[in-house]
Amino acid sequence: MTALDSLTRPDLPTDDREFRELVRDWLRTNVTGDFAALRGRGGPGDEDIGFDVRVEWEKVLGAAGWIGLGWPREFGGRGATVDQQIIWAEEYVRAEAPARTNHMGENLLAPTIIEYGTPEQCARFLPGILRGDERWCQGYSEPNAGSDLANVQTKARLDGNEWVIDGQKVWTSLAHVSHWCFVVARSEPGSQRHQGLTFLLVPMDQPGVEVRPIRQVTGGGEFNETFFTEARTSADLVVGRPGDGWKVAMALLGYERGISTLAQQVGFERELESTVDLARRFGRIDDPIMRQKLAAAHTGLHLMKWNALRSMSAKGVPGPEASISKLFWGTWHRDLGELMMEIMGPSGLIGESLPYELTLEQKLFLFTRSDTIYGGSNEVQRNVLGERVLGLPK
Ligand SMILES: Cc1cc2nc3c(=O)[nH]c(=O)nc-3n(C[C@H](O)[C@H](O)[C@H](O)COP(=O)(O)OP(=O)(O)OC[C@H]3O[C@@H](n4cnc5c(N)ncnc54)[C@H](O)[C@@H]3O)c2cc1C
Repeated sequence: MTALDSLTRPDLPTDDREFRELVRDWLRTNVTGDFAALRGRGGPGDEDIGFDVRVEWEKVLGAAGWIGLGWPREFGGRGATVDQQIIWAEEYVRAEAPARTNHMGENLLAPTIIEYGTPEQCARFLPGILRGDERWCQGYSEPNAGSDLANVQTKARLDGNEWVIDGQKVWTSLAHVSHWCFVVARSEPGSQRHQGLTFLLVPMDQPGVEVRPIRQVTGGGEFNETFFTEARTSADLVVGRPGDGWKVAMALLGYERGISTLAQQVGFERELESTVDLARRFGRIDDPIMRQKLAAAHTGLHLMKWNALRSMSAKGVPGPEASISKLFWGTWHRDLGELMMEIMGPSGLIGESLPYELTLEQKLFLFTRSDTIYGGSNEVQRNVLGERVLGLPK
């Protein structure tokens, strides 16, 4: 029996209405006490809030089988349909359950090792994610490798039965609270661009890894610089073949546009509702120009949802819809942040309390400035669409 066999979960109802009832009841019974105190908290710009409590919440979700909902059953998931996963996301937002803490592990790394990893890697890493007690971060970007990711300079070399890693990553979200990092490193000396890269699974708790927090404009510190100085990981913790890391790294990015996009949009719906409430509170709801802006945001949200559904129903290699989707939602969310500030007018510039505590709306506004950068900047998405879709010259 492997570690995965022991994680077989009870069946889900096949009827979507029954499934919705099950989810709603479970959330009603469990979002209580300390968890209820964090209702609607921990989202963009608010990531530091109640982190320890949210970690406990993740374990409660894991014990009840709500992590890995859409993973195949043989890997310890529940094999939920896309519709059920959307229902889960909708009910989760409706219950205002605390924001999750391991998006990178559950939604990005896990499907990648299911596709490219060895059975031993699946047995070693999937249970920790399913239980909610092993968090992951993403070691892709470097000071000179962001949009131009193929310029990765972090090095990895084999020393006996271990990889030795040297280099610097940057903007590593949640590295300071992660147990593991998936690192793209150059393992073939002298190799260029996409060649000679390797995708490694590296433990964070070791002398060779130093994490330096970066204080953000929101006041929080969600991301970090991560330094690897003779950091080590076991020789068998390479996903895919050594030198073939680009393929694995790109496959992982493909999962970013999966079901988690729809869950994110359910969150956007809630933020749009709050924006409408804000317009009411600030006496702007009858202003015809403001009404048009709110209606445009509402329409944009629906376009986004249909595009995401179209993108997910398309099979095969991710097409241009991935770039359309990123460009659209990043811009939409940034504009929503600006709309919130416009509604609040001059009072939007004043902190909530000393020593300069920001309101949730202010934090959201500041965080949304990054939406058009991470996951591929707007300019890069436009390049992809221009060159690969419209056939324009480079
Ligand atoms: C909130 C946040 C969280 C992040 N989390 C992570 C993480 O967990 N792990 C990780 O590895 N990375 C993470 N990143 C990094 C993110 O992937 C990079 O910021 C992004 O890829 C852009 O790279 P860069 O910051 O180096 O900017 P650069 O690539 O230096 O770009 C600077 C500017 O130049 C423009 N530009 C660059 N190339 C071109 C071109 N060819 N044509 C036209 N314009 C161009 C860009 O659009 C941008 O405006 C995060 C970033 C943010 C903001």
